[in-house]
Amino acid sequence: MGLFVSQIGGIVASAATTTPFGAQRFAKDHATYVITTKSDYYKSIWRSAIDAWNATGAFKFKTSSASKAQITLGIASKRESKKMGNDVGLTEFWARDNYFVSVNSLLNARLIKEYDYSRSDAIHVAEHELGHAMGLAHNPSTKSVMYYRNRAVGIQKVDINGVKARYQTPAGQTN
Ligand SMILES: [Zn+2]
Repeated sequence: MGLFVSQIGGIVASAATTTPFGAQRFAKDHATYVITTKSDYYKSIWRSAIDAWNATGAFKFKTSSASKAQITLGIASKRESKKMGNDVGLTEFWARDNYFVSVNSLLNARLIKEYDYSRSDAIHVAEHELGHAMGLAHNPSTKSVMYYRNRAVGIQKVDINGVKARYQTPAGQTN
């Protein structure tokens, strides 16, 4: 699950109790999003992942119009899918002074189908990409939704701790 534009995906820190985070974050612990895919299946995948994160209380994703959304959630076009190679998800972002201006997360529907991902597998990928969208980096532990090749694991306590820590730590600093 690659990252674009920044190095979040490459940071490896020991993180027994807290999933690592990158230097970037939103200004507040909430952000607006829009789901752009027309696929009912992938709309429901993104919504389930949003609901799962919102239920943790660590961050709030709020729905908005496309023109006002800070986060765009979709599925990869044919060309984007090719560019993603073997990655089932991708999050790219634009930041200023380490504050996210906009974030774009994609699911690679073609690969998700090809690899026979179950609905819950696909939701875990969406939860992982939303983790990046909030500023989380990869966790070297397989028992984290932010493990770089995660498929089977949903949001864990370490991941919730990571988001809380990200928003208790100023932009520009990592853990
Ligand atoms: Zn990733």
